[in-house]
Amino acid sequence: MNAPNKSGWKPAMAVDEDGLHNGPQTTTGNRALMLEEPLLFEIGHAETTGVDLPEFDPDASSRLGGFERSDPIGLVGLTEPETVRHYTRLSRQNYGIDLGFFPLGSCTMKHNPRLNEKIARLPGFADVHPLAPQSTVQGALEVVHQLGHWLCTLTGMPAVAMSPKAGAHGELCGILAIRAAHIARGDARKVVLVPESAHGTNPATAAFAGYEVEDIAATAEGRVDVEALKARLGPDVAGVMITNPNTCGLFEKDFREIADAVHDAGGYVYCDGANFNAIVGRVRPGDLGVDAMHINLHKTFSTPHGGGGPGSGPVVLSEALAPFAPLPFVRQTEDGAFELVEEERREDTRDQTFGRMTAFHGQMGMFTRALTYMLSHGADGLKQVAEDAVLNANYILRSMEDVLHAPFAESGPCMHEALFGDKDFGGDLSTLDLAKGLIDEGFHPMTVYFPLVVHGAMLVEPTETESKASIDQFITAFRSLVERAVAGDESLKQAPYYAPRRRLDETGAARKPKLSWTEPTE
Ligand SMILES: *Cc1c(COP(=O)(O)O)cnc(C)c1O
Repeated sequence: MNAPNKSGWKPAMAVDEDGLHNGPQTTTGNRALMLEEPLLFEIGHAETTGVDLPEFDPDASSRLGGFERSDPIGLVGLTEPETVRHYTRLSRQNYGIDLGFFPLGSCTMKHNPRLNEKIARLPGFADVHPLAPQSTVQGALEVVHQLGHWLCTLTGMPAVAMSPKAGAHGELCGILAIRAAHIARGDARKVVLVPESAHGTNPATAAFAGYEVEDIAATAEGRVDVEALKARLGPDVAGVMITNPNTCGLFEKDFREIADAVHDAGGYVYCDGANFNAIVGRVRPGDLGVDAMHINLHKTFSTPHGGGGPGSGPVVLSEALAPFAPLPFVRQTEDGAFELVEEERREDTRDQTFGRMTAFHGQMGMFTRALTYMLSHGADGLKQVAEDAVLNANYILRSMEDVLHAPFAESGPCMHEALFGDKDFGGDLSTLDLAKGLIDEGFHPMTVYFPLVVHGAMLVEPTETESKASIDQFITAFRSLVERAVAGDESLKQAPYYAPRRRLDETGAARKPKLSWTEPTE
């Protein structure tokens, strides 16, 4: 990066070393509407501020008993327009579902209806405080209770824990309930079985809860190898964690048979329900023998997410695990009021609770959005969500399979996501080059190199959000990039050409992030 000039503005990447952005370099570093944005520290000044503070009163400082600060705090100030512009410019460098198609597989980036926002911003929901007296937040508690009711109904499960704050947190909740159930019957077990196609959070969760994790192989058609799994069951196996629909975008058809075998061997069945949007309204996991399953409200039920949040991962639980569910939980008393049960009591359904997942009871903003999404769609609408998500993914699968390796195309229709591999690429081009090429075409790339069972995997999830026209546009761009990759078009190695930044050191960015700003040395 260039050092800032006096005004803080720095000439940017208007012209790359390779001369790809032909044209004169601009004075500001901006290129038309693609604006370079310096850090706040580079544009702000210690003497600038967006608010008027009262004159310093030396007498008042005596009230601080000598503890008053004697040096400047070291933060820069900006005027209000400077602040607004800074953040607006940054937001324009971000890609979001409101900007275009966002086919990130496994992440379910779907449109968040504006109605959700309107409801979530009602003061009674938006301003609710977790320590407010319960009598003053009856409506909010009713939302939590009603959402829990619909989650149980849609999954065919008797109980739900609403407090987990994300999918992975929900996994931990489910595994802790499983562990508590084993301990309660004096049969603590050591091993959790996880298929090799599992989302990385599954083995991480089991290991975090103190279990040994063992892989179960996948079949050539991309599903759990049932015979291998059955052969491994035994008195040391606490349970299995299986994603259904799985991360190859396929429905685990033998789930019931697997669940029965696990139960016969004294284990419990954890289902990773992150892909519930493919089957909501069509399949009730409770009917498949699931004991615990998290639901990513931010995926299936629409809340916008990314960059680490916000999330919400309620966990539905079977009869067997319900007594071990975490506190607190909301229930309706006989007089119709809603009550937040904070402590274990003998007469409660959760009389053997394993404890708490969080200090409070969950994510109010996501609860309101998810319930709004459910109620505005209704039962038929939710069923159609699943059908359209699956239809869109199959449309992409069948529109690409003649040019791109589709390893499980023979396994029948996919569910909500289409999986491809890099087998046919020419030269030394890779999945990464193709993904970077998509950025130049104005799309967020699909998920790449996951799941690990497919070489150079590309996982494309359109969701029900997209119209045929927008999917056709994506397919046209995707096909043209694949054709270039197969032909060994080396120019793809330099993509993206048109993004604010080109290729970044992705490992360095994750492993050695620079989290503080220091004055550049001249
Ligand atoms: C997203 C996802 C998770 C983790 O959910 P978070 O809410 O990101 O913690 C787990 N499993 C699968 C299959 C997922 O897609």
